[in-house]
Amino acid sequence: MQKLIDGVHRFRTESFGGYRALFQRLSREGQDPHTLFITCSDSRVLAELVTHSQPGDLFVVKNVGNIVPPVTAHDASSSTGAAIEFAVEVLRVQDVVVCGHSQCGAMSALMGGVPPTSAPQHLARWLEHAAPVRQTVLTEYAHLKDDVARQRAAEEENVLFGLENLTTYPGIQRRLAAGDLRLHGWFYHLATGELHAYAPETRQFQEVVSGPVT
Ligand SMILES: [Zn+2]
Repeated sequence: MQKLIDGVHRFRTESFGGYRALFQRLSREGQDPHTLFITCSDSRVLAELVTHSQPGDLFVVKNVGNIVPPVTAHDASSSTGAAIEFAVEVLRVQDVVVCGHSQCGAMSALMGGVPPTSAPQHLARWLEHAAPVRQTVLTEYAHLKDDVARQRAAEEENVLFGLENLTTYPGIQRRLAAGDLRLHGWFYHLATGELHAYAPETRQFQEVVSGPVT
């Protein structure tokens, strides 16, 4: 905890000055983020850091495994759904990114079993939202023999599953039909800092390069 408190102090004394004008404007005018960024709670995945974003740029949803439940999920997992509706219909972001990552513990648990906890029902039930991903990997990637390759397949398929589920939200359907919202599937490689984007034409994740990216 001391590390956290020291960090708060350093932010106030060393960093905040550089952001003062920006935060004052954001405080005065409210937020107007351009992107809803859905990624994993993993401590190594930092949306703002890897996209070099500033305060006010991204509306970030972090959950275990960057899972996007379909609109029909009405249990305790609907916080992600709430964030999607708010960002898309109230804040009116222009882009939605579902960003998976390498070495994802949630995808490992999805494929290999949930680690034991004292009250595992939440973790297990949450991961059940991504059960179709496990099924896809077991059937369409049956040729993959090693766990590492299977895990990568799950991590990537989970991003595509998230994109598919995004389209079950009426607010997203409306804005896609109006042509003023774009959906993106991204994949972040922890060890190299590389970001790959899913290209529907090639059905592959390709490195994000400068310039327009879809
Ligand atoms: Zn993860």
